[in-house]
Amino acid sequence: CGIFAYLNYLTPKTRREILELLVNGLKRLEYRGYDSAGVALDSPDGKDMAIVKKSGKVKALEDEIFSKEKTLDFDSSTDCHVGIAHTRWATHGVPSEINSHPQRSDVNHSFVVVHNGIVTNYKDVKLFLEKKGFHFESDTDTEVIAKLVLHLYTQHPTYSFRELVEQVIQQLEGAFALCFKSKHFPGECVATRRGSPLLVGIKAKTRLATDHVPILYSKDDTSIKSDAEAQNPDHRPHGRGEIPILPRSDSTAEFQPLE
Ligand code: GLU
Repeated sequence: CGIFAYLNYLTPKTRREILELLVNGLKRLEYRGYDSAGVALDSPDGKDMAIVKKSGKVKALEDEIFSKEKTLDFDSSTDCHVGIAHTRWATHGVPSEINSHPQRSDVNHSFVVVHNGIVTNYKDVKLFLEKKGFHFESDTDTEVIAKLVLHLYTQHPTYSFRELVEQVIQQLEGAFALCFKSKHFPGECVATRRGSPLLVGIKAKTRLATDHVPILYSKDDTSIKSDAEAQNPDHRPHGRGEIPILPRSDSTAEFQPLE
Protein backbone atom coordinates (compact mmCIF):
# COMPACT_ATOMS: atom_id res chain seq x y z
CA CYS A 1 0.00 0.00 0.00
CA GLY A 2 0.99 3.62 0.05
CA ILE A 3 0.83 6.21 2.81
CA PHE A 4 1.00 9.91 2.15
CA ALA A 5 1.01 12.80 4.60
CA TYR A 6 1.12 16.52 4.21
CA LEU A 7 2.19 18.99 6.90
CA ASN A 8 1.92 22.66 6.03
CA TYR A 9 3.21 25.57 8.09
CA LEU A 10 4.45 28.01 5.55
CA THR A 11 1.66 29.30 3.35
CA PRO A 12 -2.08 29.39 4.00
CA LYS A 13 -3.89 26.85 1.87
CA THR A 14 -7.56 26.19 1.25
CA ARG A 15 -9.01 22.83 2.16
CA ARG A 16 -9.62 22.26 -1.53
CA GLU A 17 -5.86 22.63 -2.17
CA ILE A 18 -5.01 20.32 0.72
CA LEU A 19 -7.46 17.67 -0.46
CA GLU A 20 -6.11 17.91 -4.01
CA LEU A 21 -2.60 17.44 -2.68
CA LEU A 22 -3.60 14.37 -0.68
CA VAL A 23 -5.52 12.79 -3.57
CA ASN A 24 -2.70 13.52 -6.04
CA GLY A 25 -0.22 11.98 -3.59
CA LEU A 26 -2.36 8.84 -3.48
CA LYS A 27 -2.61 8.72 -7.27
CA ARG A 28 1.20 8.62 -7.46
CA LEU A 29 1.19 5.69 -5.01
CA GLU A 30 -1.82 3.81 -6.35
CA TYR A 31 0.28 1.13 -8.05
CA ARG A 32 1.17 -0.01 -4.49
CA GLY A 33 -2.43 -0.76 -3.53
CA TYR A 34 -5.82 -0.12 -4.99
CA ASP A 35 -8.55 -1.95 -3.06
CA SER A 36 -9.58 1.08 -0.98
CA ALA A 37 -8.37 4.52 0.01
CA GLY A 38 -8.94 7.23 2.60
CA VAL A 39 -7.90 10.59 3.99
CA ALA A 40 -8.05 12.45 7.32
CA LEU A 41 -7.65 16.20 7.57
CA ASP A 42 -8.25 18.92 10.14
CA SER A 43 -11.64 20.56 10.41
CA PRO A 44 -11.55 24.28 9.58
CA ASP A 45 -11.34 25.25 13.28
CA GLY A 46 -8.62 22.64 13.89
CA LYS A 47 -10.60 21.11 16.78
CA ASP A 48 -11.91 18.06 14.96
CA MET A 49 -11.02 16.11 11.87
CA ALA A 50 -12.84 14.87 8.81
CA ILE A 51 -12.27 11.32 7.60
CA VAL A 52 -13.36 10.17 4.15
CA LYS A 53 -12.85 6.52 3.14
CA LYS A 54 -13.98 4.54 0.13
CA SER A 55 -13.68 1.04 -1.26
CA GLY A 56 -12.15 0.78 -4.70
CA LYS A 57 -9.67 2.93 -6.54
CA VAL A 58 -8.42 6.39 -5.59
CA LYS A 59 -10.79 7.81 -8.23
CA ALA A 60 -13.75 6.53 -6.15
CA LEU A 61 -12.35 8.35 -3.11
CA GLU A 62 -11.77 11.48 -5.17
CA ASP A 63 -15.38 11.44 -6.41
CA GLU A 64 -16.62 10.93 -2.85
CA ILE A 65 -14.51 13.85 -1.57
CA PHE A 66 -15.57 16.18 -4.35
CA SER A 67 -19.24 15.30 -3.83
CA LYS A 68 -18.87 16.63 -0.27
CA GLU A 69 -17.59 20.03 -1.25
CA LYS A 70 -20.02 21.81 1.11
CA THR A 71 -19.65 19.63 4.20
CA LEU A 72 -15.88 19.54 3.77
CA ASP A 73 -15.82 23.33 3.58
CA PHE A 74 -13.55 23.48 0.55
CA ASP A 75 -13.06 27.23 0.52
CA SER A 76 -11.98 27.78 4.12
CA SER A 77 -8.24 28.22 4.44
CA THR A 78 -5.73 27.40 7.11
CA ASP A 79 -2.02 28.13 7.59
CA CYS A 80 -1.16 25.12 9.75
CA HIS A 81 -2.46 21.82 8.62
CA VAL A 82 -1.88 18.08 8.83
CA GLY A 83 -3.48 15.67 6.38
CA ILE A 84 -2.80 11.94 6.07
CA ALA A 85 -3.85 9.57 3.30
CA HIS A 86 -3.70 5.89 2.40
CA THR A 87 -4.22 3.57 -0.51
CA ARG A 88 -4.72 0.03 0.75
CA TRP A 89 -3.73 -3.46 -0.31
CA ALA A 90 -5.46 -5.54 2.36
CA THR A 91 -3.58 -8.12 4.40
CA HIS A 92 -6.10 -8.47 7.28
CA GLY A 93 -9.78 -7.86 6.66
CA VAL A 94 -11.57 -7.66 3.32
CA PRO A 95 -11.46 -4.49 1.26
CA SER A 96 -14.28 -2.35 2.67
CA GLU A 97 -14.88 1.15 3.95
CA ILE A 98 -14.60 0.15 7.61
CA ASN A 99 -11.33 -1.71 7.00
CA SER A 100 -9.76 1.05 4.94
CA HIS A 101 -7.44 3.55 6.51
CA PRO A 102 -7.08 5.92 8.32
CA GLN A 103 -7.95 3.65 11.24
CA ARG A 104 -9.15 5.48 14.33
CA SER A 105 -8.73 5.16 18.09
CA ASP A 106 -12.36 6.02 18.88
CA VAL A 107 -15.42 7.78 17.54
CA ASN A 108 -13.96 11.13 18.63
CA HIS A 109 -10.99 10.59 16.31
CA SER A 110 -8.48 11.26 19.08
CA PHE A 111 -5.78 9.49 17.07
CA VAL A 112 -5.80 8.27 13.49
CA VAL A 113 -3.16 6.27 11.68
CA VAL A 114 -2.29 5.08 8.19
CA HIS A 115 -0.20 1.93 7.90
CA ASN A 116 1.82 0.14 5.28
CA GLY A 117 2.77 -3.39 6.32
CA ILE A 118 1.65 -6.07 8.78
CA VAL A 119 1.52 -6.15 12.58
CA THR A 120 2.20 -9.82 13.21
CA ASN A 121 1.34 -9.74 16.94
CA TYR A 122 -1.90 -7.78 16.51
CA LYS A 123 -3.99 -10.54 18.12
CA ASP A 124 -2.07 -10.23 21.42
CA VAL A 125 -2.35 -6.45 21.37
CA LYS A 126 -6.05 -6.66 20.53
CA LEU A 127 -6.74 -9.02 23.41
CA PHE A 128 -4.90 -6.72 25.78
CA LEU A 129 -6.90 -3.70 24.60
CA GLU A 130 -10.22 -5.55 24.70
CA LYS A 131 -9.54 -6.34 28.33
CA LYS A 132 -9.09 -2.60 28.84
CA GLY A 133 -12.56 -2.01 27.39
CA PHE A 134 -11.75 -1.12 23.78
CA HIS A 135 -14.24 -2.24 21.12
CA PHE A 136 -12.92 -2.96 17.66
CA GLU A 137 -14.83 -2.00 14.53
CA SER A 138 -12.57 -3.33 11.76
CA ASP A 139 -10.86 -6.64 10.98
CA THR A 140 -7.52 -4.99 10.31
CA ASP A 141 -4.27 -5.48 12.19
CA THR A 142 -3.82 -1.69 11.95
CA GLU A 143 -6.67 -0.76 14.29
CA VAL A 144 -4.67 -1.98 17.32
CA ILE A 145 -2.12 0.75 16.61
CA ALA A 146 -4.70 3.56 16.72
CA LYS A 147 -6.22 2.20 19.92
CA LEU A 148 -2.92 1.48 21.64
CA VAL A 149 -1.78 5.07 21.19
CA LEU A 150 -5.03 6.32 22.80
CA HIS A 151 -4.60 3.87 25.66
CA LEU A 152 -1.06 5.13 26.29
CA TYR A 153 -2.17 8.74 26.00
CA THR A 154 -4.77 8.23 28.75
CA GLN A 155 -2.11 6.56 30.93
CA HIS A 156 0.58 9.18 30.20
CA PRO A 157 -1.13 12.47 29.38
CA THR A 158 2.14 14.41 29.65
CA TYR A 159 3.96 12.43 26.95
CA SER A 160 4.76 14.20 23.71
CA PHE A 161 3.28 12.80 20.51
CA ARG A 162 6.71 11.44 19.60
CA GLU A 163 7.08 9.71 22.98
CA LEU A 164 3.68 8.07 22.61
CA VAL A 165 4.59 6.72 19.19
CA GLU A 166 7.93 5.50 20.51
CA GLN A 167 6.07 3.54 23.17
CA VAL A 168 3.54 2.17 20.69
CA ILE A 169 6.03 0.79 18.21
CA GLN A 170 7.97 -0.96 20.95
CA GLN A 171 4.86 -3.11 21.40
CA LEU A 172 4.56 -3.98 17.71
CA GLU A 173 6.08 -6.85 15.81
CA GLY A 174 6.19 -6.99 12.04
CA ALA A 175 6.91 -4.42 9.37
CA PHE A 176 5.45 -1.00 9.04
CA ALA A 177 5.56 2.54 7.81
CA LEU A 178 3.13 4.58 9.90
CA CYS A 179 1.89 8.10 10.00
CA PHE A 180 -0.16 9.42 12.92
CA LYS A 181 -2.33 12.45 13.38
CA SER A 182 -4.14 13.49 16.57
CA LYS A 183 -6.70 15.96 17.83
CA HIS A 184 -4.63 16.23 21.00
CA PHE A 185 -1.56 17.41 19.06
CA PRO A 186 -2.82 19.87 16.46
CA GLY A 187 -0.28 20.79 13.79
CA GLU A 188 1.82 17.69 14.48
CA CYS A 189 2.36 14.60 12.45
CA VAL A 190 4.53 11.69 13.55
CA ALA A 191 5.88 9.16 11.06
CA THR A 192 7.95 6.09 11.74
CA ARG A 193 8.96 2.90 10.04
CA ARG A 194 10.47 -0.54 10.50
CA GLY A 195 11.27 -2.50 7.39
CA SER A 196 8.96 -0.56 5.06
CA PRO A 197 10.31 2.46 3.19
CA LEU A 198 9.39 6.02 4.11
CA LEU A 199 10.46 9.25 2.42
CA VAL A 200 10.32 12.75 3.87
CA GLY A 201 10.25 15.68 1.47
CA ILE A 202 10.73 19.29 2.52
CA LYS A 203 9.69 21.90 0.01
CA ALA A 204 11.31 25.00 1.48
CA LYS A 205 14.46 24.77 3.55
CA THR A 206 13.61 27.83 5.58
CA ARG A 207 14.49 28.00 9.24
CA LEU A 208 10.83 27.37 10.04
CA ALA A 209 10.62 24.21 7.96
CA THR A 210 13.81 22.65 9.30
CA ASP A 211 12.90 23.54 12.89
CA HIS A 212 9.73 21.54 12.56
CA VAL A 213 10.89 18.74 10.30
CA PRO A 214 14.42 17.51 10.98
CA ILE A 215 16.12 16.28 7.84
CA LEU A 216 16.57 12.53 8.11
CA TYR A 217 19.03 10.28 6.40
CA SER A 218 19.72 6.60 6.49
CA LYS A 219 22.58 4.21 5.83
CA ASP A 220 20.42 1.18 6.49
CA ASP A 221 17.03 0.34 7.97
CA THR A 222 18.22 0.40 11.55
CA SER A 223 20.02 3.74 11.75
CA ILE A 224 18.04 6.71 10.68
CA LYS A 225 18.81 9.89 12.52
CA SER A 226 18.18 13.56 12.10
CA ASP A 227 21.21 15.77 11.47
CA ALA A 228 21.11 16.99 15.08
CA GLU A 229 20.89 13.45 16.46
CA ALA A 230 23.78 12.30 14.29
CA GLN A 231 26.02 15.03 15.69
CA ASN A 232 24.95 14.45 19.28
CA PRO A 233 23.60 10.99 20.16
CA ASP A 234 21.97 12.37 23.34
CA HIS A 235 19.97 14.91 21.38
CA ARG A 236 16.25 14.23 21.70
CA PRO A 237 14.33 16.89 19.88
CA HIS A 238 10.88 17.78 21.13
CA GLY A 239 8.20 20.07 19.87
CA ARG A 240 5.73 20.53 17.11
CA GLY A 241 5.89 18.74 13.84
CA GLU A 242 8.86 16.45 14.37
CA ILE A 243 9.09 13.41 12.20
CA PRO A 244 11.06 10.89 14.23
CA ILE A 245 12.20 7.65 12.71
CA LEU A 246 12.91 5.25 15.47
CA PRO A 247 15.27 2.34 16.00
CA ARG A 248 14.12 -1.21 15.48
CA SER A 249 12.89 -2.80 18.69
CA ASP A 250 13.98 -6.27 19.73
CA SER A 251 11.70 -8.37 17.59
CA THR A 252 12.19 -11.41 19.84
CA ALA A 253 10.81 -9.54 22.87
CA GLU A 254 7.57 -10.73 24.39
CA PHE A 255 4.59 -8.40 24.14
CA GLN A 256 4.72 -6.43 27.36
CA PRO A 257 1.55 -4.50 27.96
CA LEU A 258 2.14 -1.02 29.32
CA GLU A 259 -0.13 -0.22 32.22
N1 GLU B 1 -2.13 -4.66 7.15
C1 GLU B 1 -2.90 -3.48 6.88
C2 GLU B 1 -4.32 -3.81 6.48
O1 GLU B 1 -4.60 -4.87 6.01
C3 GLU B 1 -2.23 -2.58 5.85
C4 GLU B 1 -2.19 -3.21 4.51
C5 GLU B 1 -1.49 -2.33 3.52
O2 GLU B 1 -0.23 -2.24 3.61
O3 GLU B 1 -2.20 -1.75 2.67
O4 GLU B 1 -5.17 -3.03 6.65
